[in-house]
Amino acid sequence: MYDVTAIGELLIDFAARDTDAAGYPTMKANPGGAPGNFLAALSKYGLRTAFLGKVGTDAFGGLLINTLKEAGIETKGIRQDSSVFTTLAFVTFDAGGDRSFSFARKPGADTQLSFEELDLELIDQAKVFHFGTLSLTDEPVRTAAKRAVEYARKKGKWITFDPNLRLPLWNTPDEAREQILWGLSQADVVKISDEEVEFLWGITDEEKAAEKLQKEFGVKLSMVTMGPRGAYLSSEKAAARAVCPRVTPVDTTGAGDIFGGSAVAWLLKSGKAPEELDEKELAAMGAFASAAASLSTETPGGIPSIPSEEAVLKKLRGSETV
Ligand code: ATP
Repeated sequence: MYDVTAIGELLIDFAARDTDAAGYPTMKANPGGAPGNFLAALSKYGLRTAFLGKVGTDAFGGLLINTLKEAGIETKGIRQDSSVFTTLAFVTFDAGGDRSFSFARKPGADTQLSFEELDLELIDQAKVFHFGTLSLTDEPVRTAAKRAVEYARKKGKWITFDPNLRLPLWNTPDEAREQILWGLSQADVVKISDEEVEFLWGITDEEKAAEKLQKEFGVKLSMVTMGPRGAYLSSEKAAARAVCPRVTPVDTTGAGDIFGGSAVAWLLKSGKAPEELDEKELAAMGAFASAAASLSTETPGGIPSIPSEEAVLKKLRGSETV
């Protein structure tokens, strides 16, 4: 049995932070992919997780599978295909530390997963099914992900969705918008960032965004994250804000995924349904997820930066805010 099964991308992030004596970038290879970070946070906080995806038979594919295994994630649903190369992403930083992405993904292995290759038992055996929009950019993975979501819904699973918009991966912004809106229409629980809200609807008001998600898309639990400004959480019953504890960020990679995974971990441990959460519970869930995500920014990388539950609880007890 699993608590959460996710479908999605696995890739290597080459982070170009430094240069050599000749001025050429030197790159660090970090295992990446939002659903892996999300599941790794759930595993870190004691939940059982499984992954559906595809990598190449190259060394990077092996590295990614081992990384997820070490994070406690079931990897038997990850296919290895010798005809495609594991997806690579190149991350560069501007003077303020903000990231830009370029992808070697035409096609990357993650996009070549077909529905027939999915181990549907991993969905049957889970309570929650999670996905994001990197599984919706290209075929055949788009059809695989959409059919998997429909399958999970029919089986009564809770659906969680994090758009995780990466514009360079889409043919046009309109295509990205259309696919994100489809994702929102399928989801019970949504984690979305303020930047994604602005991209979709041109609004900067998180309360309006949460209301839209609930009324127009039937989302039962919305979490709008706003970087260092914290997050706004709302269920059918109530709403609450979460503030960020004081931290010294060095790398925000994966912070949004870690927020989502930590919040869903809290939800599953509470034994409550997403729509039932009252104000106090939303506040407690938001505080836990904010502390985990904010603490993760103090350590480089995605999975390696997920703090222990003890560290999160200690931060919450200290609870200084930015
Ligand atoms: P990403 O795509 O980088 O994974 P996101 O855009 O989905 O992230 P954000 O809203 O940027 O999500 O951040 C998610 C959470 O991470 C925030 O709610 C906050 O708790 C934490 N966080 C992000 N950036 C910072 C920061 N600079 N300082 C403190 N906490 C941060």
